[in-house]
Amino acid sequence: MAEKKSKTIGILTSGGDAPGMNAAIRAVVRKSILDGMKVYGIQRGYTGLLNEELFEMDKHSVSDIIQRGGTILGTARCEEMRTEEGQKKAVDICNKFGIDTLVVIGGDGSYRGALALSRLGINAIGIPGTIDLDIACTDYTIGFDTAINTAMQAIDKVRDTSSSHERCSIIEVMGRNAGYIALWCGIANGAEDILLPEKYDYDEQKIVDNIINNRKHGKKHHIIINAEGIGHSTSMARRIEAATGIETRATILGYMQRGGSPTCKDRFYGSIMGAYAADIASAGKRDRVIAFRGGEVTDIDIEEALAMQKSIPEYQWEVSQALSR
Ligand code: ATP
Repeated sequence: MAEKKSKTIGILTSGGDAPGMNAAIRAVVRKSILDGMKVYGIQRGYTGLLNEELFEMDKHSVSDIIQRGGTILGTARCEEMRTEEGQKKAVDICNKFGIDTLVVIGGDGSYRGALALSRLGINAIGIPGTIDLDIACTDYTIGFDTAINTAMQAIDKVRDTSSSHERCSIIEVMGRNAGYIALWCGIANGAEDILLPEKYDYDEQKIVDNIINNRKHGKKHHIIINAEGIGHSTSMARRIEAATGIETRATILGYMQRGGSPTCKDRFYGSIMGAYAADIASAGKRDRVIAFRGGEVTDIDIEEALAMQKSIPEYQWEVSQALSR
């Protein structure tokens, strides 16, 4: 029987935190240990790696975390990792601790850091952890479900008061470069206007006409869901109020969308993808990212994954428009 190569995994979370990251950390740690590997937890993303903030984890290190939002490892954005010098330093630190495989839970920026390390000889495995759903190679990213449900519930609440006061409400959700949260909430909350970075034509007059027209037909509220990349919601509210004569308020949901206990879906996907990352590391696969495609967990070459493009599904966009009129 072939002997399994002894391996040491380093695990970090990077970029924006996302609910369900803890489930993924737990799964990577427990499955790696079961498979006979050693695991180092790295705090504060690449920043912590460069500062040698590492500690050995055992199965008890991940007890009582699956239900918690955020990431127990902490996360950060790290400019030094973008430099060749920083990347070489990261590799030296991995070598110093005997880390041959680095598992990176984060978005595509974090994957770029992982790719840079893989080119310098560290096996890098990415797990999609971002509330934005904007990683092209996978149908699902950990954190999205919790974030959209949190946003949806908040928007329902704003809508109640908006109807009572016969107001127009602009509700800003996260998604600076990707409008998936806005699209999903736009459909799920029955918004009258949905402004996505990928689709918005900056024709504010169309929104004004829509509000006036809806009011003529007796609608008491008007909900505009605005992905954060589009202008300044408070200034837009002022302009719309001036143009329509209807009281208009902006609500910026902000960081509350990131927090909170992960939904079952985020715990489930985090667990499956984390366990799968440990399995492929143990099997000796190199430089992969984990993905869900067609309902199955799979892995893809990291460079290929980063070259893929994703756009808002046209039919979903058409439906959002058809149902809001
Ligand atoms: P989110 O989707 O939540 O924003 P992300 O992983 O895309 O997550 P980024 O801020 O883009 O978040 O990237 C996280 C970190 O990854 C950066 O702070 C940096 O340390 C590293 N990184 C990003 N791009 C590169 C790159 N081109 N080369 C090396 N490292 C990078």
